[in-house]
Amino acid sequence: MPPASIESRALGAYLGLALGDALGATVEFMMPREIQAEYGVHSQIRGGGWLHLKPGQVTDDTTMALALGQALLSAGALDATAMAEAFSDWLRAKPVDVGHTVRRGIVHYRNTGHTQMPYSDNDAGNGACMRVLPVALATLEADTAFVRHACQVQAHITHHHALSDAACETVSLMVQASLRGLNDINTLLGMAQKLVALHPEFNFRRRRSDNPSGYIVHTLQTVFQGLFDTESFEQCLIEVVNRGGDADTTGAIAGMIAGAFYGLEGIPGAWLKKLDPRIRAEIERQTPALLMLNLQSAELYPASQDTD
Ligand SMILES: [Mg+2]
Repeated sequence: MPPASIESRALGAYLGLALGDALGATVEFMMPREIQAEYGVHSQIRGGGWLHLKPGQVTDDTTMALALGQALLSAGALDATAMAEAFSDWLRAKPVDVGHTVRRGIVHYRNTGHTQMPYSDNDAGNGACMRVLPVALATLEADTAFVRHACQVQAHITHHHALSDAACETVSLMVQASLRGLNDINTLLGMAQKLVALHPEFNFRRRRSDNPSGYIVHTLQTVFQGLFDTESFEQCLIEVVNRGGDADTTGAIAGMIAGAFYGLEGIPGAWLKKLDPRIRAEIERQTPALLMLNLQSAELYPASQDTD
């Protein structure tokens, strides 16, 4: 197979996020043995689950990412207020599911106008990482310090915690390395190991991560096991979601990294055909536009705040 282009890998990442969300939502909050009893191996986009979804319907993981992506595109800059407003509009539209920390952050913004939550030991959920992809696409050419800054601007609207920040940055850098044409999974493994060296909590080789919670550490342990113990996009996502627990979000994060690494060509056609066509169209519209944005440090502040 010829090497996948940046566009193919970026589309793979965004569609991978949506497909991991749609696939995982069916088995969210289930134990692995319950999944096995019901489906054998859960490997089809079939909807259902505790949210009673239609086949191919996505949840907050994907729709928050789309809200963030649209905020970046509309502002043409890294504008925390535009992002917070987009999240507030997203909540007002009554999404199918809303995380506790996400809701609290949006209400905090509505009440105070502040786009950053105070630092909290309780904010180490996976809700900032699950939606980080548009930032990774829009900052592909930026240096690491700016990618880190951009991740934190979007994350801190709802989640302000060092482990969430580290996860957002690592996942973004893994997506970006893949977009640049990476063909060796060991490079991604090295990036995961670097995260573990900085924050040993993330060690993913101690035990099998079954029934992962919404704690970002459990989420990434599951994602990394799935990513590094399989050899295709499809295998990776099946491995991850069949662990149950917060399966829509482990699926979404695994989907964005594996989708970037294996490219659009690695995504099963049968899954893509099932994906909600409005979501697919929105992803196909946003992806090239986010890459074109090419945010770097010059766009640190939105144009509306320029004095000249
Ligand atoms: Mg969800």
